[in-house]
Amino acid sequence: MSESELVVTDARAALVGELSVRRALPTRGRRTVGAWCFIDHMGPATLSPDNLFGVAPHPHIGLQTVTWLFDGALVHRDSLGSEQLIRPGQLNLMTSGAGIVHSEENPGLTSGELHGAQLWVALPTKTRDGVAAFAHHTDLPRFELTNGEGVVLVGSINDVRSPARHDSDLVGLELTLRPGQNVIPLEPTFEYAMVVIRGAVGVKGETIKPGHLAYLGLGRDEINVSTTENSVALLLGGVPFEESIVMWWNFVARSQEEISSAYESWAKSDERFGPVDSKLSRIEVGAPPWFRSNR
Ligand code: MN
Repeated sequence: MSESELVVTDARAALVGELSVRRALPTRGRRTVGAWCFIDHMGPATLSPDNLFGVAPHPHIGLQTVTWLFDGALVHRDSLGSEQLIRPGQLNLMTSGAGIVHSEENPGLTSGELHGAQLWVALPTKTRDGVAAFAHHTDLPRFELTNGEGVVLVGSINDVRSPARHDSDLVGLELTLRPGQNVIPLEPTFEYAMVVIRGAVGVKGETIKPGHLAYLGLGRDEINVSTTENSVALLLGGVPFEESIVMWWNFVARSQEEISSAYESWAKSDERFGPVDSKLSRIEVGAPPWFRSNR
């Protein structure tokens, strides 16, 4: 595609626990945007005694999970012993390294509304087999736009820099837009994609609504966006991720063998993946289609 092209694809509906999500990445034709390799727009949903959102303990390898809420609250628990309530405007950033287990649970504290995003970042080779970590950021930097404002979740825009860890050159921004025009500065060496969370955002003559991925390519130093109603969007970008990844279930790796090894560790409950202090019982999964046990 040319550098100035805009490609809009449909997100697909999926279920995470009991919660409906719109999975904007990966798509059939696109695995990554920078190192971003997974974009779930969760809800909005009303939780009730019959619909108690909770994702029971499950493992990850080779990625960071980036959790960002627009409404409601979740409790994160992991095998490092972390227990962290997250609310809108706060960032949970979990770095799996070679292996971690976590749950994300409804704390039962709010009116029952839940609306958020969970994003994954593929870790580069230099850190993907490293030590697991968890961070909670409550004071992320903001920036002003002509007709709106933004929050830097990770990376930077101009000189406004997030304290969140990132292991490759990338950026994640929340844009809160009032009716009117805005010019967003971009890094020309980054490719970008936008996901609209609320409202509608006009980009390059198209109107982007929730449930789509608007891929913007690379080579731009700015993008014009226009809105006729109050809107919220995520703008994600990064240097194109050159390492070829294999994704299966909750694992990001470089080969089927690596995935098989992680699957087998989870299935056998060996020491690779530690316990999580959760009342929910762990998620089991069937073997990957290529899997043959060595024993
Ligand atoms: Mn997870």
